[in-house]
Amino acid sequence: MDAFDSFFSFFTSPTFRFVISTLKVFLVIFWLSLAFWTYRDANRRGGMSGYWGIVVLLFFVFGFFIYLIVRPPEYSDDARERELEIKAKEAMISQADLVCPACMKQIDKEFIVCPYCLKKLKKSCPSCEHALKLNWTICPYCQSNT
Ligand SMILES: [Zn+2]
Ligand SMILES: [Zn+2]
Repeated sequence: MDAFDSFFSFFTSPTFRFVISTLKVFLVIFWLSLAFWTYRDANRRGGMSGYWGIVVLLFFVFGFFIYLIVRPPEYSDDARERELEIKAKEAMISQADLVCPACMKQIDKEFIVCPYCLKKLKKSCPSCEHALKLNWTICPYCQSNT
C-alpha cells in the first residue's frame, strides 16, 4: 500500500495545496480580466459595456460566450472610419467633373478650354455664350442649334 499512501499524501502535501491556491488566484485574475476585456470590447463596439461586464462577472465564461454570440459585429471606430472613407470617395467622384481629362488639373465648370494644356473642354453657345458640352447639338439654355 506504499504507492497508495504516497498518492494520498500528495493531495495533503503543502505542494499540492500551493498549486491549488495558485490556481485559485489565477482563476480570479482570469475572471476579472475576462470581465474587463468584455467591458472594453463592448465599449469599443458601442454596446452596453457596463451590462456585459457585470454579466461576465456573474456568469464567468458562460456570460462571456453569450456576449461573443450577441455582441455588435464591429468596432464603432471602424464603422465611423469606413463612413469617412466612403464620404471622401464620394467627394472625389463629384470632383472628377471639375478636372481636365487631359492634364488632370483643376478647372472651373464654365471653362471652355483648359488653361493649362489648352484642351478644348466645351463649346460656347453662339447666341447665349453658355458653356456647352461638346456632344450637345442644342443649347439647353436658349434652344439654339450649335
Ligand atoms: Zn488640361
Ligand atoms: Zn444658348
